[in-house]
Amino acid sequence: MTVRSSETQDEQYNKPKSSYFNLPALDVSLAFPQATPASLFPPCTSDYYQFDDLLTPEEQSIRMKVREYMEKEIAPIMAKYWEKAEFPFHVVPKLGALGIAGGTIKGYGCPGLSITASAITVAELARVDASCSTFVLVHSALAMLTIAIAGTETQKQKYLPSMAQFKTIACWGLTEPDYGSDASSLKTTATKVSGGWRILEGQKRWIGNSTFADVLVIFARNTTTNQINAFLVKKDAPGLQATKIENKIGLRIVQNGDILFKKVFVPDEDKLPGMTSFWDTKKVFAASRLMVAWQPIGISMGVYDVSHRYLKERKQFGAPLADFQLTQQKLVQMLGNIQAMILIGWRLCKMYEKGTMTMGHVSLGKAWITSKGRETVSLGRELLGGNGILTDFLVAKAFCDLEPIYTFEGTYDINTLVTGREITGIASFKPSASTQQSRL
Ligand SMILES: Cc1cc2nc3c(=O)[nH]c(=O)nc-3n(C[C@H](O)[C@H](O)[C@H](O)COP(=O)(O)OP(=O)(O)OC[C@H]3O[C@@H](n4cnc5c(N)ncnc54)[C@H](O)[C@@H]3O)c2cc1C
Repeated sequence: MTVRSSETQDEQYNKPKSSYFNLPALDVSLAFPQATPASLFPPCTSDYYQFDDLLTPEEQSIRMKVREYMEKEIAPIMAKYWEKAEFPFHVVPKLGALGIAGGTIKGYGCPGLSITASAITVAELARVDASCSTFVLVHSALAMLTIAIAGTETQKQKYLPSMAQFKTIACWGLTEPDYGSDASSLKTTATKVSGGWRILEGQKRWIGNSTFADVLVIFARNTTTNQINAFLVKKDAPGLQATKIENKIGLRIVQNGDILFKKVFVPDEDKLPGMTSFWDTKKVFAASRLMVAWQPIGISMGVYDVSHRYLKERKQFGAPLADFQLTQQKLVQMLGNIQAMILIGWRLCKMYEKGTMTMGHVSLGKAWITSKGRETVSLGRELLGGNGILTDFLVAKAFCDLEPIYTFEGTYDINTLVTGREITGIASFKPSASTQQSRL
């Protein structure tokens, strides 16, 4: 291998052959894709137990509306934006027109969907592109819901209507560089000053949409009460800086940022009065965790749909891959996983509606569904052979996108411990006293 000494030389040699020899750009028809890529999204074959039967006509209708939009508008462009790790700003008005932002929130221009309808929209977005569903979730199920739950009437009137149309975009900042799973120990402070609050020397990490959000919902420790409160910070507030986190291997379209606060002033009217302690975040997490649990469901459905089509199109040993017993077994295992994931997700929605769903219930659901999703996309990736590592066929992208979902909204471990605490009455988040003593 020739050793190259400069970035310019690297760029030169990395050019596709056609441009290297100054030929016209490579015609895709000259490539050998072997099957239909996911830019032409396959029909839905993964709803084997006819989930539609459990849905109201309104829920079925929003399902089809989001599905059609995603297959037509997002499928053709998603691989390109994912590869470039860029956000397709031009699709935002069309996403707004779907009438899904705000989910279950009633009034203030929000759609007032049932929790099941809201969950299905998350799955249908994620079936085609998990980044798109994450963008919507952060804005809607985290930021908008926090304002709806903890905001004053004036704040709701001011922010929610334009957020429902995606005219105002929001992010939601809880995690800090040193406090991820242990977010309740966060260190960013808010100190009362004349006319408002001063957010001092704080840092936030991983915050989705934060590089371009108009409004940032930020959690900080009130230095008077020592409790965690929430504040609405405007994007142009002096002392605020958000930097994009580069080199992610999943959800590459989502713009995650590191945020730095240097004496940012927040007027009194932008403090959310209903967020008086970390305990209050649970009201948001109950719904947002349930929504996130529907992401792996949608992702797995998309991967199954693509794999199902691929196995019929691609031939080896003189027959379509679908002819072989081992490939059928993997496909059926994926399908079985998806049916069980849907039914658990649906049951959680019904319990949420009845007011009987606990944090233990939803945490088990998010942890279990996500781990089954991981298994499902990994089978899909395997079934597509070499094409299973190309973003063009969805499965490689979905495989990578599931990893951050396994980790955010409480990691698999933390969600397991939440359920463990509920069923035993014993919290095991912190090392036991004896372990701590042995460290001394
Ligand atoms: C793509 C992406 C988007 C995100 N978006 C947002 C966002 O919009 N807003 C926001 O506020 N945050 C966001 N996050 C942050 C996310 O919530 C955290 O990454 C998550 O809570 C885990 O924290 P951590 O990464 O610091 O991992 P850590 O807490 O350092 O955990 C590392 C490992 O240790 C394990 N672990 C930690 N504590 C325990 C314990 N007590 N017992 C057993 N195991 C334990 C974890 O399960 C994990 O496996 C995002 C993260 C990612 C990756």
